[in-house]
Amino acid sequence: MRVLVIGAGIAGLSAARCLLKQGVARDDLRVVDKGRGVGGRMASRRMDTPAGQARFDHGAQFFTTRSDRFSSTVASAVEGGAVVEWTKGFGDADGFPRWRGSEGMTSLCKWLAADAGIVPELGTRILDLGDELAARPVDAVIHTAPVPQALATMAFGGLLPDIELAQQLSGIHYKPTIAVMVAPAVAPIGLADHGGSQHNDDPNHPDLAFVTDNQAKGISPIPAVTIHLSNATSAELWSSPDEVVLERALTAAATHLGPAADRNGLHGVQIQRWRYAGPVECWPEPTVVWGSAPVIALAGEAFAGPKVEGAFLSGWAAAEAVLASA
Ligand SMILES: Cc1cc2nc3c(=O)[nH]c(=O)nc-3n(C[C@H](O)[C@H](O)[C@H](O)COP(=O)(O)OP(=O)(O)OC[C@H]3O[C@@H](n4cnc5c(N)ncnc54)[C@H](O)[C@@H]3O)c2cc1C
Repeated sequence: MRVLVIGAGIAGLSAARCLLKQGVARDDLRVVDKGRGVGGRMASRRMDTPAGQARFDHGAQFFTTRSDRFSSTVASAVEGGAVVEWTKGFGDADGFPRWRGSEGMTSLCKWLAADAGIVPELGTRILDLGDELAARPVDAVIHTAPVPQALATMAFGGLLPDIELAQQLSGIHYKPTIAVMVAPAVAPIGLADHGGSQHNDDPNHPDLAFVTDNQAKGISPIPAVTIHLSNATSAELWSSPDEVVLERALTAAATHLGPAADRNGLHGVQIQRWRYAGPVECWPEPTVVWGSAPVIALAGEAFAGPKVEGAFLSGWAAAEAVLASA
């Protein structure tokens, strides 16, 4: 079976690992990603500053493990040095590990690829899936982009599902998150030792979703703070100038940062707007499959839970469904 996997985030890499494990030949598997690296929304980046190179996680901050399948994979990644425990909770520790990549969240995805010998074609964006399949036919496609983006690649090639399913899939909407990354001259003083502060619908911090001191987290050699604005504030500020977003983020996180929130003491600032930070509601099944020659499966966090683990399990489920359809 020849399979095209679109996306080298955790869902795509999970799907690719399942396909290889179940006997798909390496030469019959193609994994493509439009990005310069693997990981997708498990994203890390560097920032050169006068004080040195800062490093940030600016998408997912951590992940949890509940299922046997993901737990055993993460245990292997821990053995391989790609994943470490960050903390057992951000408020009152609840005993459940919050995992992080050893050098940033992309570490897990890099390991998932390397461990299975998967070499994604990076910088390869599928614009029109119909054109792509005409040039390089396959028996199955597993598409792991956010659902609106995945459907857009199929619009012109006659590859969309029947109208009812297409309409249902079009009803999957996403929440935005703005990530503000700052490299302050001094380390923050208002965060716990582990460096993370989680705010889910927190009335005391309505503008915030998460604040991370990436140095305390263990991935940056110099002070580097990621401020995730809440979904509501991200939506409100989506089209605002960066200056406005920065001001709001620093004000919101002032008690977390102390003197590190001083605008004049910042060595660098970057802002990332995540249009598809997470689905408003998840699809009830871990994947959705239609068609034949090729079979098409959608996978990703919209299908098995809006988190890293859900995306991993969805990718695996899509691969199994595609194989079962052969
Ligand atoms: C700001 C933020 C904070 C988050 N925090 C957490 C957290 O703390 N814990 C947690 O568990 N989860 C968190 N999440 C959610 C988590 O990051 C996602 O659930 C998970 O990473 C999604 O993985 P995925 O493989 O489904 O999608 P993605 O990671 O988005 O992977 C899809 C890949 O497809 C590629 N792609 C898309 N379109 C095309 C195309 N046309 N051609 C080629 N390639 C394409 C993209 O480049 C991308 O690499 C967060 C997400 C965001 C944005």
